[in-house]
Amino acid sequence: MSYVTILWSGAAAAALLLGIVHATVWLLNRQAWSNLALAVVALSLSGIGITELGMMVSQSPEEWGEWARWCHLPLFFHIVAIVVFVRLYLGAGRRWLMWTIIGIRTAIVIANFSSPLNFNFDSITSVARMHFLGEEITVVGQGVVSHWQWLATLASALLAIFVLDAAITLWRQRTKDARRRALFVGGGILLFLVLATVSTQLVIWGIAVMPMLITPPFLISLVAMAYEMTRDTLRAGRLAAELLESQNRLELAANAAGLGLGVWDARTLQFWATQRSRGLFGFEPDEQIDVDSVAGRIHREDFPRVREALISSIGTRARFQVQFRVCTPQSATRWLASHGDVVVDPHGRLTMIRGVIRDVSEQKQTQEEAEELRRELTHAGRVTMLGQLASALAHELSQPLGAILRNAEAAEMLLSTPSPDLVELRAIVADILKDDQRAGDVIERLRALLKRRQMQFSPLSVETLVKDANTLLRADAAARHVALECCAGDALPMVAGDRVHLSQVLINLILNGMDAINESASSRRRITVAARNVEDTSVEIAVVDSGTGIAADRLPRIFEPFYTTKANGMGMGLSVSRTIVEAHGGRLWAENDVDGGAIFRLTLPTLQGSAS
Ligand code: ADP
Repeated sequence: MSYVTILWSGAAAAALLLGIVHATVWLLNRQAWSNLALAVVALSLSGIGITELGMMVSQSPEEWGEWARWCHLPLFFHIVAIVVFVRLYLGAGRRWLMWTIIGIRTAIVIANFSSPLNFNFDSITSVARMHFLGEEITVVGQGVVSHWQWLATLASALLAIFVLDAAITLWRQRTKDARRRALFVGGGILLFLVLATVSTQLVIWGIAVMPMLITPPFLISLVAMAYEMTRDTLRAGRLAAELLESQNRLELAANAAGLGLGVWDARTLQFWATQRSRGLFGFEPDEQIDVDSVAGRIHREDFPRVREALISSIGTRARFQVQFRVCTPQSATRWLASHGDVVVDPHGRLTMIRGVIRDVSEQKQTQEEAEELRRELTHAGRVTMLGQLASALAHELSQPLGAILRNAEAAEMLLSTPSPDLVELRAIVADILKDDQRAGDVIERLRALLKRRQMQFSPLSVETLVKDANTLLRADAAARHVALECCAGDALPMVAGDRVHLSQVLINLILNGMDAINESASSRRRITVAARNVEDTSVEIAVVDSGTGIAADRLPRIFEPFYTTKANGMGMGLSVSRTIVEAHGGRLWAENDVDGGAIFRLTLPTLQGSAS
């Protein structure tokens, strides 16, 4: 049985297969440099196997020498790839040693192909035939060793030192994983490297007549390397599964919090986004997303703001926070709030942008509504000043009107003279015109202020009303250290009313309560607004404060126009409020609380009650 042929060609085939597998891994993932190094180790070993087999079956010294010459080519790649693999995979080994070994091996391979026979022998005088593993093979009988052979011996010794040094460095890291690698890969390579080196050196220096035996030990060390790499691949697979699981968990938590996640990779220029983020931007679940497609969805007016936020974040490395509108193909426009950070490499180049996004359309709408309400309230507030403005008007008009009267009387007197002074008369008429213009201006100004807003009745929930007042006065209450408690359940029936005017009433009542609390010395500072259903025909809203209360003699007068006990009061708030409530078909009255403080109650007929 020819074991030599079977073993050597089998080893070459196995190495070739391993080489192809790892070369494929590298082709699929160009970052996997260790796999490329291992592929070269394996493919070159296949070449070593074939040439070594050639030596063993050669018939003459020349033929043996030629095979040995060609063996140097795969051997060169094999050793260089081992050195690179050790550096990449073990992350250890001295750089200068690596370059020295590569340098010497390069010189050897060049010299090998320049010499008449091969690098190792100047001449081979005879070959011998011997029995080995059941087959007759050819080995070197007698030859003249080249002067430079010591260089190859040195390169082999340096390689052994390089691997040993790398393994020791790794061993010192003390982690279980590092030590296993040091032992398996470092120890494996070293052991079989020494075996191969010793056998070849014995043959070349003519110490023993035997086959070179390079392939078998190198194959075993290759298997050790490949075994470790396969473990890594398996571990990477497990990690990928764990990563996917943790990504799912993260996505679940983000979804529960109403958040979408997104990452932009600067190397691939692609976006990774959770389904929620995709939905917010209106992308299909499996659609490829890049910068252009995302930019295309951002509202044109908001895009510069988003770009600005990202650029400044890249510059300052601070987190970015930006709100913008997106327009989806489904023609929906929504407001999104995004915050996140940018990742830059040590050279300051952008590598990644990651962020979370949240749909804030509803908040934006509420904000806009509150803004609108505030605007309207300001307007309604101006209307409330009607009384004061009326007296201001009277005051301002009395002056030009008085002047006009006096000028008209003077003109009348002049005209009654036989020859009226026309120059004087013209001056008087000019004065009258001027005063008239002034009076006109005063009226015009007032008209502008009083452009009255018609009451607009629509179905209204009392809860909304109370919430509006709470939203608008929360800050005031906090600043004045008053606890403002509003409770109106959504089970209350709807009323028909004007949201702006009724809010104005509630605001008046609450502000009055705060004034009363400020006047009282009591440490209790609380205003409660509560609403209840009265026999389904009306809803009663009570504003209860912990202030001074209302003295019995004042109680009947507080709803009178211009009645005020405050230094800067106008005395119009309660009177206007009562007018508004009564215009809604309701009632507004005041009473004192048994615990001190005042209670203002207003009733509004429900939609159902007013219909029947
Ligand atoms: P103003 O607040 O400008 O005085 P109002 O018509 O709102 O005008 O109030 C009239 C008066 O009613 C107040 O000056 C105050 O004396 C009295 N008043 C109103 N609300 C309260 C309250 N919650 N507690 C005690 N007195 C009140």
